[in-house]
Amino acid sequence: MVYHAIADLLKLCEETKKPLWEVVLQADMESRQVSREDSYHTMESMYTAMRQADQNYDKSLRSSSGMSGGDGEKMRAFNESGKNLCSDFTALAMEKALKMAESNACMRRIVAAPTAGSCGVIPAVFLSYEDMFASNRDEIVHALFIAAGIGAVIAENASIAGAFGGCQAEIGSASAMAAAGLVYLQGGDEHQMMQAAALALKNMLGLACDPVGGLVEVPCIKRNVAGTVNAISSAQLAMAGIESAISPDDVIDSMYRIGNIMPHALKETSEGGLATSESARKLCKNLGN
Ligand code: SF4
Repeated sequence: MVYHAIADLLKLCEETKKPLWEVVLQADMESRQVSREDSYHTMESMYTAMRQADQNYDKSLRSSSGMSGGDGEKMRAFNESGKNLCSDFTALAMEKALKMAESNACMRRIVAAPTAGSCGVIPAVFLSYEDMFASNRDEIVHALFIAAGIGAVIAENASIAGAFGGCQAEIGSASAMAAAGLVYLQGGDEHQMMQAAALALKNMLGLACDPVGGLVEVPCIKRNVAGTVNAISSAQLAMAGIESAISPDDVIDSMYRIGNIMPHALKETSEGGLATSESARKLCKNLGN
């Protein structure tokens, strides 16, 4: 099972009559020369690590820069206030995205899926889904395989690194991966999963990587929330039968081309965008940078 594009994945599903997660699992077995059990166990252990990272969130922790920490707890408290503007599921996912990204900034153990900077999106969506809908653990692991398949195609044809393609490559990729997995959990078909990924990635195209002080904190932590909500709304659109006018592979190709023409200053160098704003200068002065 070899795939290089979203179209390949869909073709393999059709030819083998296997579900998408199974196609991705079998490709992993072949490429890493591991047994089915090993492949499955690796993915399951990733999910366990995500769960542990969420449970180990410490509301009192602050990053060494002093810029991050405590917002996950603020979100939790607000979610309990009964003043939610969005669904309980989306609210919980926002809370978990903040907690995970803050944990990363505070040097706690996280799963870099696909990167440390975008580590909040996938766990936020899948952990919240398991919590809210008492989903079967195997189903969540299947959703992670689907996310991994999307991520592998993006990594091969564009990038998942902010230094190469800007934040579209990090938060955008994470959002597309989570959106496809969420459609699976909701009972959507393979086509809808890919549509969700395309819709999510489209919304993030052109996003600059402009971290203040070169630290993965501002704007990264709150962008994980944006990527999470974007994944949920994209999955909802796809489940409703709404389609991307641009094919999933063309969206990924567009991300690659945008990354190529994106200025160096917006690729994790902190030489442009938010990183060079007056507010950022003040923050950096306090950091001693
Ligand atoms: S702004 Fe840059 S460092 Fe921060 S999450 Fe986005 S890609 Fe990663």
